[in-house]
Amino acid sequence: MPEKDDAIATAVRRLLANFQSEDAQGEILGGADIEGVLVRGGLVQVSLAVARERAPALEQARRAVEAAIARLPGVTNATVVLTAHRAAPAATTAAPAGRPAAPRPPAPRPQPLPGVGQVIAVASGKGGVGKSTVSVNLAVALARSGLRVGLMDADIYGPSLPRMLGENRRPEVRGDRLIPVQAWGVSTMSMGFLVEEDSAVIWRGPMIMGAVQQFLGQVEWGMLDILVVDLPPGTGDIQLTLSQRVKVTGAVVVSTPQDIALIDARRAVKMFEKVEIPVLGVIENMSYFCCPNCGHRSEIFGHGGARAEAAKLGQAFLGEIPLLPEIRALSDAGTPVVAAAPESEAGRAFAAIAAGLAQRLVAGGKDPA
Ligand code: ADP
Repeated sequence: MPEKDDAIATAVRRLLANFQSEDAQGEILGGADIEGVLVRGGLVQVSLAVARERAPALEQARRAVEAAIARLPGVTNATVVLTAHRAAPAATTAAPAGRPAAPRPPAPRPQPLPGVGQVIAVASGKGGVGKSTVSVNLAVALARSGLRVGLMDADIYGPSLPRMLGENRRPEVRGDRLIPVQAWGVSTMSMGFLVEEDSAVIWRGPMIMGAVQQFLGQVEWGMLDILVVDLPPGTGDIQLTLSQRVKVTGAVVVSTPQDIALIDARRAVKMFEKVEIPVLGVIENMSYFCCPNCGHRSEIFGHGGARAEAAKLGQAFLGEIPLLPEIRALSDAGTPVVAAAPESEAGRAFAAIAAGLAQRLVAGGKDPA
């Protein structure tokens, strides 16, 4: 399957290149840059960066490209989105012969999200470390402490929030605005609410300007104290788009104590430094195993690695979450542990980290201690 997807991705890139060279004479893609091509089991997602002003004029071209990709062998569905975070090029981009090209205009500065106090990104260097579990439980714990909280699932290609929240209602659309789904006291939005799980990713209608951008710009978040953003694992386009589009207060990096996950966490911390998002600190998940029968604590992954690593990187350590079967079981059942069992060891661990985080935010990102 992955080899098949690789072959499709190559064919998609070739097709886009053809469209772009036609553009040299005609007007097909109007100077769009290929930002990303993602193929998963025959589903194709392409994002093209264009100048904001050009986006409406390129809608027809977008549809033509999308239809052409959908006709490629092996493709079950194609979605092409235009992301408009690039500023309009200067009037004379094509420099006359012999003269240097006009410099690219600087990227637009990230803007605060209207009505939203703080934006917190939850990240991890690799998948499976419990980043989404942490995002959900932190968001619910913050809401339970009386704050107005939103939770945005920025994992567009692998959304897990609907399952973890036990929600699959479709968000209401009002005009060109999407209304978040309320779950466990939190305003939530996820690609998983908009498309069937395992079905083709089709996202049309008012949404043509790039998934993350739309979640930020076209969702009616209302007045929020904190918007928690569950990022996809790793260090890719979505992280970059987020940092360019909105002013992110800070990122929380989730890691397990194993060495390999730590190395990835280190990479994530460095990436945030590059895009100028402050790292608020590191959370160690699956920190130790607490036997549900006898309460015995075993440190199967060599507990404490994230704390030591955070210190080495000059980052704050925000706390640790034990490895507990109930965390997984409640997650799978769609009932976050902080709401279902707030007095359990897991519930208290998440609540303590949320409280520390809230305090840190009040203190302006600095260590409140
Ligand atoms: P990620 O978002 O990093 O890919 P998830 O949050 O989806 O990871 O978690 C991966 C799996 O591990 C899920 O089945 C989740 O329920 C489970 N899990 C996460 N944290 C814990 C924990 N502390 N104890 C037990 N299971 C956990």
